[in-house]
Amino acid sequence: MRVLVTGGAGYIGSVIVEELLNAGHQAIVYDSLVHGHLDALHEGARFVRGAIQDRQMLVNALRDNSVEAVVHMAAFIEAGESVRDPALFFQNNTMGALQVIQAMIETGVKRLVFSSTAALYGDPEHLPIAEDDIVAPTNPYGESKRLVEQMLRWIAPANGIAVTSLRYFNAAGATERNGEDHDPETHLIPLVLRAAISGNPVSIFGTDYPTPDGTCVRDYIHVLDLAQAHLLALQSAVPGLTIYNVGNGNGYSVREVIQSVARVSGKTLQIIEHPRRPGDQIATVASSAKIRAELGWQPRYAAIDDIIGSAWRWRVGHPHGYAR
Ligand code: UDP
Repeated sequence: MRVLVTGGAGYIGSVIVEELLNAGHQAIVYDSLVHGHLDALHEGARFVRGAIQDRQMLVNALRDNSVEAVVHMAAFIEAGESVRDPALFFQNNTMGALQVIQAMIETGVKRLVFSSTAALYGDPEHLPIAEDDIVAPTNPYGESKRLVEQMLRWIAPANGIAVTSLRYFNAAGATERNGEDHDPETHLIPLVLRAAISGNPVSIFGTDYPTPDGTCVRDYIHVLDLAQAHLLALQSAVPGLTIYNVGNGNGYSVREVIQSVARVSGKTLQIIEHPRRPGDQIATVASSAKIRAELGWQPRYAAIDDIIGSAWRWRVGHPHGYAR
């Protein structure tokens, strides 16, 4: 299949491209490189440098490459930033997605895998979270993705497009080629890995949450398992919107992540406790029963030390991340 991956030079996108190529598909990376990395581009993929707001550029990329399916990943992702600047997130994530969808309609592309997020669920009433649980984002980032799902609910059936929306829990881990490197970095695991290398202290945002150790709980899913979910979803040809959670079903607190990094790296980490970070969800753990049952998806890396171990190896091999 010829697949265009928006955001294919980003963390998750670059791993999806790797896995698409490994499975014998053709990949076209569409990325503005605002947050993506030139060094994350795969030599086996074509590259189009463009913004998702540029519909004509998207149309050309879809037409010129006879694209059969789109994986739409390109988005701003930081919940904290979205609280400070919601309009930016609605512009880029919501309006940008609409440009991608309209370019697909214009060129007759009928398959879409959309990167959605567990941030949609806000603070859930119970764990693990299922797809039909209440959607109530605690930050504009989650809202910006929720709006895209709502548009797709109408647009997909009306245009005969098969859309799979994957609600990611917390992507983590690395392949040999690609790992997590954001600028500025705000994500827990890469920050703790950096601290293990530099000897600087680790910050914990919030120690008074109603969780077993007072810190937030997340479901960390290996980026390769996440990529596999996309490959399976691309096979789907059911017109309309289908939604799946993608998480491994285990919740780990911030403190447990720090302990895992200490085990994997053999380093002692100093901790500084801070107040809560605005917009943070208390605890998110996925039920992925639906994608397991319907697409036969199975996570291969459920243990936190395996996930963090892969991220640690990448970080040691790339102490400054991708070259800037
Ligand atoms: N976090 C933290 N210290 C950091 C970075 C993150 O305590 O230096 C916490 C953050 O407040 C949240 C959890 O780690 O409770 C996961 O945050 P991350 O940004 O990695 O993912 P999110 O779930 O917010 O997308």
